[in-house]
Amino acid sequence: MEEFDKILAFIRNLYNEPNNFIPLHAPVFKGNEKKYLIDCIDSTYVSSVGKYVSKFEQMIADYTGAKYAVATVNGTAALHIALKLVGVNSNTHVITQPLTFIATANAINYCGASPIFVDVDKETLGLSPISLRKYLNENTHIKNNQSYHIKSNKPITACVPMHTFGHPCKIDEIKKICEEYNIALVEDAAESLGSFYKNRHTGMFGDIGTLSFNGNKTITTGGGGMLITNNEQLSIKAKHITTTAKVPHEWDYVHDIIGYNYRLTNLAAALGCAQMEQLPDIIQEKQINAKKYSDFFSSLKMNFIEQPENCISNYWLNALILNNKEERNNFLKYSNENKVMTRPIWALMNTLPMFKDCFHSDLNNSEWFADRVVNIPSSVIK
Ligand SMILES: *Cc1c(COP(=O)(O)O)cnc(C)c1O
Repeated sequence: MEEFDKILAFIRNLYNEPNNFIPLHAPVFKGNEKKYLIDCIDSTYVSSVGKYVSKFEQMIADYTGAKYAVATVNGTAALHIALKLVGVNSNTHVITQPLTFIATANAINYCGASPIFVDVDKETLGLSPISLRKYLNENTHIKNNQSYHIKSNKPITACVPMHTFGHPCKIDEIKKICEEYNIALVEDAAESLGSFYKNRHTGMFGDIGTLSFNGNKTITTGGGGMLITNNEQLSIKAKHITTTAKVPHEWDYVHDIIGYNYRLTNLAAALGCAQMEQLPDIIQEKQINAKKYSDFFSSLKMNFIEQPENCISNYWLNALILNNKEERNNFLKYSNENKVMTRPIWALMNTLPMFKDCFHSDLNNSEWFADRVVNIPSSVIK
């Protein structure tokens, strides 16, 4: 317990919070949030039409370097539409990592497709390019320029790597493999707004990237998401299908395909604009806190997860690797009992009842992390 006490004391000192509960990731509203929200309410345009939605989309496009950005009601909806637009349907497979938040696997299922779980990389916690190549090599054959799974004879239409905790995965190697096997690349960048791989924003390597602005993410709109892409056709389709596929007309209600009511509200976007103004400061503060954690944990000879080489990470959630599952469980119990919020990494997708029969590669790294990783408080300091 002595070591655990040291850790909790360090966290309490970092957050200047000697006694009270310390959350894992609380949002901060230090800017124009109230001003924009009041302006939005006064305008009466609180719903899916209004200047803040397009302004927020433009701010995200400018920041990420995307030519186009389309706001959605949440990150899961953004992923669902991204997958649909690259051709995922009920007769296809989508490759993703088992070590991810449930939204990634759910979005694949919403398209009727069946996920294939491929192991993560030991350095990044994101999809492993080595495992991906090995899996495709051993389990697919190419027909008419498309990769088919040998056992199911269904095409693999998309691959969804995820930038775990904001740390960029080895995305350029993954992109190369997807191109070789003619598989669309959709990046789940829900956790990595503000994270860059070799100076390019995460989510900007594939056909489409998706972001989330849920309450626990780096910036928040309460709930919200975004598709980012350089592909104009995909962006037009995304906007159309997320707004009930209504054909523009002065008054007629004509819808030309099955659409979704997935647009972000103007109210949420007003919050998003104010949050975006603070994003560079938030990233800077998160980097500074991560450095403090890093120095502290290296003094204890403990394993703190650092941003990968050639990357800037937003350090969305700081994470610690404990020695084994028992130590992890003890730490979770001790810290939460002492009002310092910590959480294990997600249960692997392939262990959940809905996904237990899905194909997967060997998952040694994912299983290793699942037993050992704990997230520790990561909010920006108030
Ligand atoms: C947060 C998150 C999402 C999207 O979640 P929403 O709550 O729907 O915005 C998707 N994938 C991952 C990995 C996430 O962490």
